[in-house]
Amino acid sequence: MNVAFYGHVRQYRNIKSEIDKNIKTVLESGQYVMGPMLKKFESELAAYHGTKYAVGLGNGTDAIWLALMALGIGPGDEVITHPNTFFATAEAIWIAGATAVFVDCQAGSKCICPGRIEAAITRKTKAIIPVHLYGQCADMTAISKIARKHKLKVIEDNAQAIGARGPKFRIGQLSDAATTSFIIQKNLGTFGDGGALVTNNAAIDAAVRRLRNHGSTARNVHSFGFNSRLDDLHAGILSAKLKHIDEYNDARRQWAARYTQGLKDCRTFDLPVELKGYRHVFHLYVIEVKKPQWRDQLLDYLVKNGVDAKTHYSIAIHQQRGYPWGKKARIVGSVANAEANAACCISLPMFPELTAKEVDYVIAKLKAWDAKYAHLAPAGKGPAQGGACGCSCK
Ligand SMILES: *Cc1c(COP(=O)(O)O)cnc(C)c1O
Repeated sequence: MNVAFYGHVRQYRNIKSEIDKNIKTVLESGQYVMGPMLKKFESELAAYHGTKYAVGLGNGTDAIWLALMALGIGPGDEVITHPNTFFATAEAIWIAGATAVFVDCQAGSKCICPGRIEAAITRKTKAIIPVHLYGQCADMTAISKIARKHKLKVIEDNAQAIGARGPKFRIGQLSDAATTSFIIQKNLGTFGDGGALVTNNAAIDAAVRRLRNHGSTARNVHSFGFNSRLDDLHAGILSAKLKHIDEYNDARRQWAARYTQGLKDCRTFDLPVELKGYRHVFHLYVIEVKKPQWRDQLLDYLVKNGVDAKTHYSIAIHQQRGYPWGKKARIVGSVANAEANAACCISLPMFPELTAKEVDYVIAKLKAWDAKYAHLAPAGKGPAQGGACGCSCK
């Protein structure tokens, strides 16, 4: 049996008529850029988040750096984030001209550890970018408290967690802005690239609208800007899919629960942690091997057995070649949790259109591997979830 990592075509076939209808509407409207479909999708996206504004953009990376630009953050400024995220989080910071400052993640959630942030704050610090990694929210209550105390801006990198929630907060409500990506593999993905920013701040909304369209406020009137618009065709596809996002996330949660139930007795790897009171939307279901030398071995075994497993992300940002790229980034304190995550992570197939048969096949293969090596497994949690950081993180 082969189990794919993504199910893009299955998803398309399931709601083909709805997607095709919106594509046809756009094609026949004659308006393909900044047209009525984009406007419609933006209002639907704002309503979904319960924010006042949503702006469609070219991709998720642009969304982060345009948010930074709208907040006036650039050269000489520092922005705090964590190094176990997709490269683009940091990339956006230095496209804006600022310096990325990395602190460790929590051992359990893999999101930024609030307990590490204050030690990294200097006179140059302007913002924090928590990433809702793998589909689970960072602790926005703690992060926004630190931000208020030190007068810092907060931009949520929500590329991976649309539809997730915290115990007492929603995405976009405890920050200056939340950005997202609609590249096909994200929980809400178009057939290509796209991104957006949601905010309750009228000035940020207006600035990002201007920046995405050559700094234009009216025809022929320009200030400095760029070209980063969400095409109406993509907006139409996303509008059709947004109606199903809660159902898609529920399906992801259901497959995650099935993996967790099926794998709970395995001893060679740790399972993902869903924090109490959080709604994790499992963009990725990431297990962590208890011995780093097992990672590539298990990954090869899965791939050889037809399971398209991957790693997210096996090289942390500060471990990429050339770091710190001419002082574009630096680390404060130990990032042992992030490094152990990079060394031990394996992402299992995860998409709403999986079947029980496929999930059970992956579970069976993992259990067979585990049975072979369980006697060599260290007791307790492995290095990635062991929490070497000694703070209050979960
Ligand atoms: C996908 C992703 C991005 C970048 O989005 P693009 O649309 O590819 O530019 C940024 N941050 C995180 C955490 C992501 O997963």
